[in-house]
Parts: sequence; C-alpha cells; structure tokens
Amino acid sequence: ATPTALMVGVARAAQLGILIKGPDALEATRMVDTVVLDKTGTVTTGRMAVVDTASFTGAPEADVLRRAGAVEAASEHPVAAAITAAAGDPPAAVTGFEALVGAGARGVVGGVRITVGTAALMAESGITIPPAAHRWLGTTGPATAVLVAEGGAVTGGIAVRDTVKPTAAAAVADLHRLGLRTVLLTGDNEVVARAVAAEVGIPEVLAEVRPVDKVAAVRELRAAGHRVAVVGDGVNDGPALAAADLGLAMARGSDIATHAADVVLVRDDLTAVPEAIALANRTLTTIR
Ligand code: ADP
Ligand code: MG
Repeated sequence: ATPTALMVGVARAAQLGILIKGPDALEATRMVDTVVLDKTGTVTTGRMAVVDTASFTGAPEADVLRRAGAVEAASEHPVAAAITAAAGDPPAAVTGFEALVGAGARGVVGGVRITVGTAALMAESGITIPPAAHRWLGTTGPATAVLVAEGGAVTGGIAVRDTVKPTAAAAVADLHRLGLRTVLLTGDNEVVARAVAAEVGIPEVLAEVRPVDKVAAVRELRAAGHRVAVVGDGVNDGPALAAADLGLAMARGSDIATHAADVVLVRDDLTAVPEAIALANRTLTTIR
C-alpha cells in the first residue's frame, strides 16, 4: 500500500476509537489469522463479585473474608477487588505484602501470614490443603475459587464470579465471519474458562496458563505458521502482547498493556477488534 493509503487507514481507524500505532501495525492487522483473547477484563468485564465463602475450621466465614480482605486491599487484581468489597469494614493493616503474579497474594495480618490464591499456589508454598477444602473446590462450578491460608494451613475459601461483556459474543461471531480462528487464554481454571468460552462462542481454550507461559503459547502458535493477534488489558498481558504479531490493548487496561500494544482500543468493546481487522483489509486491498 502507498504511504497515503496507510495514513488514511490509520486516520479512519482513529475515528472509530481504534488507535493504530503507525503503518506497520496496520499491515500486521491485515495479516492476522488467529486472535487470542485474554479472559479477565477483555472478554469479561473484570468486575467480579463474591458468590460463596467457606470456612474449614468452624470459625465464622466473615473472619475468612476479613483476613483475605486485609491482604487483597493491597492487590490490584480483579479477584482482590471483589474480596476487598465483600470484606466490608476498613481492612486491617498488612505488612510484607507480596503480589504473586498469576497465583495470588500474601502478607502478614495481626502477626499471622495470610496467603490467598490458587490451590497450585498453596501446594507450591508447602501449605496444607485439608480434605474439606478439596471438597469445596469441587462445588464451585464456573466460579473462580481461591483458597485462604493462615500460616501453613488452608482455613477458608472464597469464590468470585465475573460477567462477560455485552458485545463479546457478537465480536467473536464477527471474527469468525472474517475467517479468523479464536482462542481464549487465561490463568484462571479450566471450568471457568470453558464456561466463558461457551458463552461467547470461542471454540479453543488455553486455561491455567501462568503469565510466562502465555508468552510461550503465543510463540508456539507463531512457530506453527500462524499470524497471531493478542487482545489483552492487564499488567500480566504486556509480554504476550509484545510477543504477538499484533498486540491489541483495551484502553481501560493497565499502562503496561497499552504501551506494549500496536493497537489501542478506546471503546471498552470487543467489536472494535473485528472492525480494526476489517478496516485494515479494506484500506490495504482497495487503495493499492
Ligand atoms: P487472568 O489470566 O484471568 O488475568 P491471572 O493470571 O491474573 O488470571 O491469575 C490467575 C489466577 O490466579 C486467578 O484466576 C486467581 O485464581 C489467582 N490470583 C491471581 N491474583 C490473585 C489475587 N490477588 N488474589 C487471589 N487470587 C489471585
Ligand atoms: Mg486480563
């Protein structure tokens, strides 16, 4: 395409709230054949709510929420926001806070080390998971379930739910109409991932993928000869966006995601993704 055609394409996209960082990104947009969508905050709203709380010690469930809430008040993860909101009261002070990317968070509350996160995190940290906790994990269905540990033992569980964005299914249908393959990529568990994928019509799911392995997943798709777009919003998504042929970030997302992206979507609406690809196709095939 001529430089003028490329500039016209970039300008037209901008009018639709699709900020394309230069002509190369527009060319890359046209070449894409696979679209990898991050789940939380991209396909879903990322505004989660607590739907279940469990205590495995006989202590009140409110104690589980309060301890977890004290740690999560220092975390920026969508799961943390739901737990902090449900915990209610101003959170107790936390010291030695650590964000465990793609796994959970921990900190010391009232002299006790509190860990909140996945069963895998507990296992890796040498924390005991009682049978009651395993049983509870089997009941949480399509909710994101995290465990809460006090010191070296899991004492409670909290399940949160997210909702898919209103236009996500329409956006996925448009991508398929353009002949593109779609894949849902998430660090969340398989059951949640499958439920969200089914709700919006995404046929392929890569779940329980750690942030570093998200990059590896993108590289594998490229190595298999695909031209891969990654759509994401989070701090964790930056490396995967950078590893893609084309990275698209939701503008409401983290600065890390928008800096790593080739395309920034101003509207919090996934239909901007098929629009961007269709527009790149039109611009670069008609004015040549
Ligand atoms: P996603 O791919 O959905 O953005 P992440 O990679 O950020 O997910 O996290 C994977 C999983 O790790 C989450 O589904 C959650 O179970 C757990 N997790 C991550 N951060 C936290 C946190 N601050 N508190 C509790 N659990 C967390
Ligand atoms: Mg996300």
